[in-house]
Amino acid sequence: MAFQVKSPRWLLWAVLLLLVGMLLTVLVFLAAEYEEASDQAELDQDAAALASDIRSALLRNVQTLQSLHVTPLAPEAWTARASGVLSLHRELVRIEWRAAGRDGRILAQADTPYLRPVFGFMPRTQTQPEVRLACDNAQRLSGPAYSRSYFWPMREGTGMELIEMCLPLFQAGEPAGALVATYSLGGLLSELTNRDLLRNRGLAFNDADGTRLAVLSSLQGGRRNLRSVAVLDLPGHTLILQLEAQRRALGLFPNVLTAVVGALCLALLAVLALLGRDIRRRQRAEQDLAEALAFRKAMEDSLVTGLRARDMNGRITYVNPAFCQLVGRTSEELVGTGLPAPWWPPDLVDEYQQRQAVRLAGKTLPREGFESVFQRTDGTRVPVLIIEAPLIDAQGQQTGYMSAVLDLTEQRRVEDLNRASQERLQATARLATVGEMASLISHELNQPLAAIASYANGTLNMLSDDGAEPLPPADLRRVIERIAEQADRAGRVIKSVADFVRRRDQVREAVAPISLVSAIQPLLVLQAKKDGIRLQVAVDPALPAVQCDRTMIEQVLLNLARNGMQAMPPGDPPMDSGLRRLRIAAVSDADPAWVAFEVTDHGQGLSDEVRQHLGTPFFTTKAEGMGLGLSLCRTVIEQHGSGLSFEPVAPRGTCFRFRLPVAAVASGGQGSPIIAP
Ligand code: ADP
Repeated sequence: MAFQVKSPRWLLWAVLLLLVGMLLTVLVFLAAEYEEASDQAELDQDAAALASDIRSALLRNVQTLQSLHVTPLAPEAWTARASGVLSLHRELVRIEWRAAGRDGRILAQADTPYLRPVFGFMPRTQTQPEVRLACDNAQRLSGPAYSRSYFWPMREGTGMELIEMCLPLFQAGEPAGALVATYSLGGLLSELTNRDLLRNRGLAFNDADGTRLAVLSSLQGGRRNLRSVAVLDLPGHTLILQLEAQRRALGLFPNVLTAVVGALCLALLAVLALLGRDIRRRQRAEQDLAEALAFRKAMEDSLVTGLRARDMNGRITYVNPAFCQLVGRTSEELVGTGLPAPWWPPDLVDEYQQRQAVRLAGKTLPREGFESVFQRTDGTRVPVLIIEAPLIDAQGQQTGYMSAVLDLTEQRRVEDLNRASQERLQATARLATVGEMASLISHELNQPLAAIASYANGTLNMLSDDGAEPLPPADLRRVIERIAEQADRAGRVIKSVADFVRRRDQVREAVAPISLVSAIQPLLVLQAKKDGIRLQVAVDPALPAVQCDRTMIEQVLLNLARNGMQAMPPGDPPMDSGLRRLRIAAVSDADPAWVAFEVTDHGQGLSDEVRQHLGTPFFTTKAEGMGLGLSLCRTVIEQHGSGLSFEPVAPRGTCFRFRLPVAAVASGGQGSPIIAP
């Protein structure tokens, strides 16, 4: 897969490189071609110039030679002048003055002073055919004519290529012999050409068939050299002049243009490579961004928390699926909607509008959020917790608000369940307390019942005793009053138990601290009496009422007081120690918003082990204990926004302490502090 994705790119690069390579090659080739063509043209031009130099020099020579005969001269004088001409013209090998006629007898002659006699090795007569040919042509043309060139061997195997020029002479319009000048072709090349044009070049005379006749200079390289030929068209004969130049070495960049274009191509390639790298980086960044976005979206989609973004005008700009599910609408329906929001319950719109106005007015948003109620399309209502925060963009400007919305339905259900089970537990604990106290209650009931029975029996006895005086009505009345009193006392015991067990109202109400203590006092008195413990109740009458769930707080006080009494079993502390007392007190707290309650005993105190586990449900050191008392107390106190604390007291024992909030409308305590035995 990766290969399939990558291969086209590499292919493109390969094609690009190939094209640039081809372009460079073609450019180099064309540049080389152009250079060669211009070299060739220059060579051709120079070859033509050299040929024309030779031609005009030969013409000048003709005039010089003609000047030998401007005035008739004796042969000796002619020879002297001819020698002068020869010393000035090294290309001339020999000048002859020949008589008119077919045989062309030599009247006078002069040889070049620069060479050993050319015609010493072989007789001059050997050249007669060439001389004749030239002179015939000259005769015919009435002007200078040239023979064909020929090789003239000399001593020691050397030789040279010569050409004859015949110039017919006239005297008074009549032919008067001829001047025959012998040129060496080598001399023509060396003497009559412009040296400047010959630097690093090869110059030679060739035959029509390409045979080399005379060479002035030659070059290495043979066939690879550039060659140009110019025709030296002489009357009677045509010579071919060949100019050679070395081909320029073909460099990678033969000229500046190619080098510049090549450099530009390379720069273009580099730019393309950089661009490619940049594009790849961008692609990678885009891919990373897409992955990050996908990850974020997946995260937002899988969140169970509803997310909602609003602009500064309260219009929805974004919602996640959890939010859509929460309000039972699609994201398309929600995005773009303003206030009032479609999920606001119709009866709460005004309240929410006000709340929204306060928030949008720029008041700081509470970090812990606020609770609200949403209404779904089907009419069901959802309790939610909304945590709102300002939405800040990359420039640091606030563009709106971001909210996390938590569905509290489940939490509320669990809370209700908890509350219900707490209540059940409380009720059970109350029943259990009563169960534990059953013997005490029966003992307490026994006394009034026994008193009733004895009063009744005594009265009956008196009534059934026939001999006895009838009971005066006043006595009878007193007896029946006692019976009624005792029945009332028994009734109060029963009622206090029934009250304690039955009272189940859950409301928080303002209760005077004293009435909390009074409610449990009858039950405590029973146990205190049995164990020989003095019960002290110290409640300041000036204390304000506290806001609490009365039944639960009574239960807490009862639990703590019973624990305290149970910590002082008979004999520990001893009766005469003065420590067998339990104190229940309500005092004003350092913080006037609270009232503190304390239950102090002088029992064995809390061991380290007990201290560690105190409040853990079902932890007990008692054989018949349930270990629920303190844990219930703690829960109840915490529900009232406070905590249960304890500390040892001197000389022995423990003090349990908790606080209750003062009710908003303060009411003084009822009654005076009660000190009960
Ligand atoms: P229970 O009374 O059923 O044992 P509690 O939760 O009320 O359950 O008490 C747990 C344990 O804490 C008791 O068993 C006892 O050992 C210890 N305890 C509670 N109150 C006192 C106290 N005032 N003095 C000493 N020990 C105490």
